[in-house]
Amino acid sequence: MDDATKNRARPTEQYKQIGTAWIGPGGQFFAKPVSKQLVDVSGHYILYLEDITVSFDGFQALNKLKLYIETGELRCIIGPNGAGKTTMMDVITGKTRPDRGTAYFGQTLNLLELSEHEIASYGIGRKFQKPTVFEQHTVFENLELAMAADKSVWHTLFGRLSGEQQDTIDSVLHTIGLTNLRTREAGGLSHGQKQWLEIGMLLVQDPLVLLVDEPVAGMTHQETEATAELLTSLAGDHSVIVVEHDMEFVRSIARTVTVLHEGSVLAEGAFDAVQNNQQVIQVYLGE
Ligand code: ADP
Ligand code: MG
Repeated sequence: MDDATKNRARPTEQYKQIGTAWIGPGGQFFAKPVSKQLVDVSGHYILYLEDITVSFDGFQALNKLKLYIETGELRCIIGPNGAGKTTMMDVITGKTRPDRGTAYFGQTLNLLELSEHEIASYGIGRKFQKPTVFEQHTVFENLELAMAADKSVWHTLFGRLSGEQQDTIDSVLHTIGLTNLRTREAGGLSHGQKQWLEIGMLLVQDPLVLLVDEPVAGMTHQETEATAELLTSLAGDHSVIVVEHDMEFVRSIARTVTVLHEGSVLAEGAFDAVQNNQQVIQVYLGE
C-alpha cells in the first residue's frame, strides 16, 4: 500500500482498531509507525486536561473538566451514567474535539492538535468496552498481529518474529495470564479472557497511557479479582486510567479516585474519602 492510500484510508465501523493499526474486513492492514519516544515524560503529569468543555447540541457533556494524571499512576474514574466518562476518554484519544480547554500529553504534545491516529501512535492505547479480538486466530496470533501493528511491518505476519519480539509476546502472555492458552482460538475464550487478551494486544505495543472503559462488566468474581491484579501490576510502567462502575473493584485497585458528575469533577481523592463525601453520596452512591 502506498502512502497516499494509507493516508486516505479511514477507520470505519468495519475496521478493528488495535492501537496504531486497523485491520479491515478483507484482511487489509494499515498502520503508522509509533512515535512514543517523542513524548516528553520528564514532567510530573503525563496527561494534563484543563477546562475541557464539550457540548452536544447545547447539552454540556463536559463542563470545564480538569484532570491531571501523574506518570505511572493508576486512576479510577467513577460517576453516574451520563457523567461524561466516555466523552472524557473520547477527548483524550482525539475522537471528540472539545469546544474549549487545554489537553496536553507529556510536556509538549497538544492533544487538541493531533489526529486520533497520531495520538495512538504517540502511545495512548484505549481498550473499548466490547472485546474486539480476532476470533479465528489463536491467542498468540492476536498478540502477533497487534505487535506487527506497532512495528508497521506487514511481513511480520508472514515472516518470523525476532527473538526480542518473541520475548515481548511471552512476557505479555504471562502478564495477562494466558500463557497456557496461547494456541487456543480466541473465539473459544471466556469473556474475561477475551478482555485480558485485548489488554495484551495493547501491551505488546507498550503504550505510555492505557485507557480502559468498564473492564469488569460481565466478568465473574474471580475474573474481576484477576483483572484488578492485572491493572495494578501495569501501573508504574504505564499510566492507567480505568472507568468502572463496580465499586468493589474500584476499592480493590484504587489509589486516587475521581468522581465525575455532570461533566465536572465532583470529588477526588482516596477511595474512603470519596466514599464518605456527602456530595458523592448524594449524587452517586446513594442513587
Ligand atoms: P458516561 O460515559 O459517564 O456514562 P458519556 O460521556 O457517555 O457519559 O455521556 C455524557 C452525556 O453526553 C450523556 O448525557 C450523553 O447522552 C451525552 N452524549 C454523549 N455523546 C453524545 C453525542 N455524540 N451526541 C449527543 N449527546 C451525547
Ligand atoms: Mg460510558
